[in-house]
Amino acid sequence: IVLFLSSGIQMLSVHPDTKPKGCAGCSRKIKDRFLLKALDKYWHEDCLKCACCDCRLGEVGSTLYTKANLILCRRDYLRLFGVTGNCAACSKLIPAFEMVMRAKDNVYHLDCFACQLCSQRFCVGDKFFLKNNMILCQTDYEEGLLKDGYAPQVR
Ligand SMILES: [Zn+2]
Ligand SMILES: [Zn+2]
Ligand SMILES: [Zn+2]
Ligand SMILES: [Zn+2]
Repeated sequence: IVLFLSSGIQMLSVHPDTKPKGCAGCSRKIKDRFLLKALDKYWHEDCLKCACCDCRLGEVGSTLYTKANLILCRRDYLRLFGVTGNCAACSKLIPAFEMVMRAKDNVYHLDCFACQLCSQRFCVGDKFFLKNNMILCQTDYEEGLLKDGYAPQVR
């Protein structure tokens, strides 16, 4: 079960005696009193920004998302990559901004991600199974296994 991954941003104060670090955004030396550390690189406060809307990602509470060499804010990340198509359970469109659950190539509304036989919900770490594109809990999966002996399809 994979939710959107994000990486944290750290703000560090620069000791005046240390050699200035190069900024990963503009490649100039960082001579400010504070710098940002993200993705194992150093940035000017103004240089770590969203590739789409230019908002500064060093603000308190910001989260950084990366995809295909783009650095994005949460909003743009979800706008660009959050529209994931139709829910494999209810076939309704999953709107942008909504968190989704993924299993193999399928995406699901959080609310729809449950065993399609007994409606049991899954928590992170729980085992779930896919059979004929249906999500099943372990119990129902194993019951089906006994019934018609299809090949196991552990994720
Ligand atoms: Zn810079
Ligand atoms: Zn943005
Ligand atoms: Zn759904
Ligand atoms: Zn079940």
